[in-house]
Amino acid sequence: MNTFYVTTPIYYANSLPHLGHLYTMIVADTVARAKRQRGIETYFLTGTDEHGINIERAAQKAGRTPQEQADYVVSYFTKMTSEFGLDTAHGGYDIFMRTTKPFHYEGVSELWRRISKAKTPKGNNAIYKGHYEGWFCAPCAEYKTEDEYQKPKNEGDPPTCLIHDTPLDRVSEESYFFRLSDYDEALLSVMETRPDFVRPDYRRNEVMSFVRGGLQDLSVSRLKTSVSWGVPVPGDPAHTMYVWFDALTNYITAIGFGNEERQKAVGFEKFWPALHLVGKDILRFHAVYWPAFLLAAGIELPRAIVAHGMWLDPNGRKMSKTLGNTIELDVLNKYFSNDAIRYFCLREMVFGQDGRFGYEALIDRANSDLASGWGNLSSRTLTMIARYCDSRIPSGLIPEDKLLLAKRTGVDTDETTVAGFIEHARDQFVQQFDNLAFSKALETAWSVVARIDKMITDAKPWDLAKDENQKQTLGVVLYRAAESLRWLSVMLYPVMPEASQAIWKQLGLDGSPAQVDPTQLKWGELKEGAAIAEVQPVFPRMDKAKIMSEITSGPEISTESSAPAVHATQADAVGITSFIEIDDFAKVDLRVGQVLSAERIPKADKLLLMKVDIGEEQPRQILAGIAQYYEPEKLIGRKVVIVANLKPRKLRGLESQGMVVAASYGEEGRPVIATFTEDVPNGARLK
Ligand SMILES: [Zn+2]
Repeated sequence: MNTFYVTTPIYYANSLPHLGHLYTMIVADTVARAKRQRGIETYFLTGTDEHGINIERAAQKAGRTPQEQADYVVSYFTKMTSEFGLDTAHGGYDIFMRTTKPFHYEGVSELWRRISKAKTPKGNNAIYKGHYEGWFCAPCAEYKTEDEYQKPKNEGDPPTCLIHDTPLDRVSEESYFFRLSDYDEALLSVMETRPDFVRPDYRRNEVMSFVRGGLQDLSVSRLKTSVSWGVPVPGDPAHTMYVWFDALTNYITAIGFGNEERQKAVGFEKFWPALHLVGKDILRFHAVYWPAFLLAAGIELPRAIVAHGMWLDPNGRKMSKTLGNTIELDVLNKYFSNDAIRYFCLREMVFGQDGRFGYEALIDRANSDLASGWGNLSSRTLTMIARYCDSRIPSGLIPEDKLLLAKRTGVDTDETTVAGFIEHARDQFVQQFDNLAFSKALETAWSVVARIDKMITDAKPWDLAKDENQKQTLGVVLYRAAESLRWLSVMLYPVMPEASQAIWKQLGLDGSPAQVDPTQLKWGELKEGAAIAEVQPVFPRMDKAKIMSEITSGPEISTESSAPAVHATQADAVGITSFIEIDDFAKVDLRVGQVLSAERIPKADKLLLMKVDIGEEQPRQILAGIAQYYEPEKLIGRKVVIVANLKPRKLRGLESQGMVVAASYGEEGRPVIATFTEDVPNGARLK
């Protein structure tokens, strides 16, 4: 039986869900859907880790029991998974795992018993009782070594946590230890023989050098008197199992390890080993502690542990409440479709590396790639089939006697050209997807969108439609476009389940793209003569200005957006309400300039730094917010219009001595630099 098991971390139930949680769930959900689509029986786990001192403390503060506190936080997680289409009802996760479930108590106790009987590779007892004394961070739920805390300013004060900036507790108590120090060689040998075990490569190297640096034994229990909210240690109820031992074990207890009922319902042997998706901040626990526990218990190791990066703000800063640059789930849910969010997350972050997340960028992507890209291809194709082919899928073949006629229009009469292109793209897409290279895979899919768009534009169906003799040629072009849409719906289903289903239905197809294995797609299976459904836009265009002004009632934080380019917007063009006198215009000194040099400015992705000759002794230094649209090299030598008497201003610490005049169009405010078609000398004035 071909099965697959994918997990997100179980999230610590001491804080409400945020973008980071949502992201890992989206990735896991996408992976699960892709596997299911290929006919692989898949189990997808997410959930919460609900034990420990932090939950106890939070509960106390809120006047709740620890269980009530956990239930409270979990209610926000289940709300999020429902709103973003990630729960079971939407075809998402199979279990929302909670470590407070009785079957988890049974399973984790079984693992403890096994390990406590085990010997390490060096012949010692894997679990032993000892004393631990150290600096402990309660929010991190771990002891901190010297390089993990900030030394105090005043001698005698406790050190502070580097992550939380809170004072650490000096803790000394009886504790059970897991003899992690005996597993260094065993772990290194796993990572050497299985290069894919920890991904990406550079994270694997980090983990390996951490292990080579020597491992310390791990405290795996706390006295019940200090932490009571947790699983009691089997045979020694004066101790409570300590966070990581308890939490990591959920991945096996959820599917039936140590519990008959779950074993029957899911099946440990059936689904284990898992692919664990984790944030890079918790990689060490998953790639060192967890495999060591499993080695000790004689349980097969995970399929792989894959660490993803973090979301930063559009300027590359960490997101934090204090900076006010966090992405709010409520805002995402209110303004954006789930598919657009999923697409953005997978397209924008090169999996493994950090990515940048901003509402504006999300709107831009939704408009350019979805509304104008895939959505537009779909609606133009289907609209033309409705108009020119009586809403029926035309034939994909040109009859012999029309071949010559078709050739004359420039339409490729050999259908294997486009079929071959899309088959190759599909193969690449599937391979990239299997390697979790989502961003690349989506680029590949969009190469199909671009290719088919170009095919339509080149063939000009609207002209072909005027000639009765070219009816078959027209049909062939539209058939190829519609068949490509069918392929794209199947390929993109795991990323955008709702839109794929909608386009599928509009094509007049039965069932769902969820049920079609992309590797089994065959060109030409779209049936001639089948009726298409009513055409509806799948990705409505988003009004960026309107939405952004609703999201950010205050001024924008970004300094880059105030870059100097004169923006004569379309809105301005139609909304001129007050006139100026000729003298007012004469105040503006517009000059012809020539770009002598142009370069990007590090850490300011919108700005270009230019030297412009406007006939003065020295060229002007001018900054313009056009870097996203113009390659600097291509601007050199170009004639431009400069506002020469604009008061110099500083941007990013650099002086801008004037302004480049540019039109601005579209909802993205794309700048287009004003220029001349005839030769004019530098410094000539515009009047
Ligand atoms: Zn901490």
